Amino acid sequence: MQIKFLGTGGAFEPQYFNSAAILNFSGSKILIDAGFTVYPRLVELNLILKIEYILLSHLHNDHCGSLANILLHQHHNGADRKPVILYQTEDFKNQIEEFLAIQLKDPEKYADFAPLPSVPGIIYLDTYGRHSEQFQTYSFLVEEAGERIVYSGDLRDTDFLFAHILTLPDLPTTVFHDIAFHPENTGHAYYTMLMPYQEQYRIYGYHCDPTKNPADNTVPLVYYQPDFMY
Ligand SMILES: [Zn+2]
Ligand SMILES: [Zn+2]
Repeated sequence: MQIKFLGTGGAFEPQYFNSAAILNFSGSKILIDAGFTVYPRLVELNLILKIEYILLSHLHNDHCGSLANILLHQHHNGADRKPVILYQTEDFKNQIEEFLAIQLKDPEKYADFAPLPSVPGIIYLDTYGRHSEQFQTYSFLVEEAGERIVYSGDLRDTDFLFAHILTLPDLPTTVFHDIAFHPENTGHAYYTMLMPYQEQYRIYGYHCDPTKNPADNTVPLVYYQPDFMY
């Protein structure tokens, strides 16, 4: 199991590319999030035809804005199978289909849809309303070979995620969490909310401008970890 980020920027920091990652899991490449910079990144890195599964944490544009382009590219460039969009719930599947239908007319022509439990080892945590008022968001937890990777998505609520992790079997856990450097950024986790959890977990911050990193922040940023970056 391996995770590598295509970008780690916030919604308004396209110079660091939208936060998104590719998870190599059980021999498959799973794209986590598909914001508006993700399609050009995948083309640039020659990974576009290698994506087999797509998972979306939520439907803000910096997490889904190039989904249609990714599907169309695969369709028109000889991918021998459709990518599979893994959905968390029927409601969320309907939202994705509605979003795609405006651009693709018939989304099922370009993608297959499968419930997330069809890939054992990946589970979601419903984080509705915690990042953005009355807005559906999810975190993902992935387990393979005795280790766990957690991808917060846009969340803000560190206590909610870590309280959930505590209920799970004790495994070496690496947490990738959204991070913010300004207390008025109420959609994301202020860095001091993450620091207390560093005693127990390996934590890396993403969804930020790394040049704004405060001197007293002890949470390492994904952006500076070559092992986690394309
Ligand atoms: Zn975002
Ligand atoms: Zn968001």
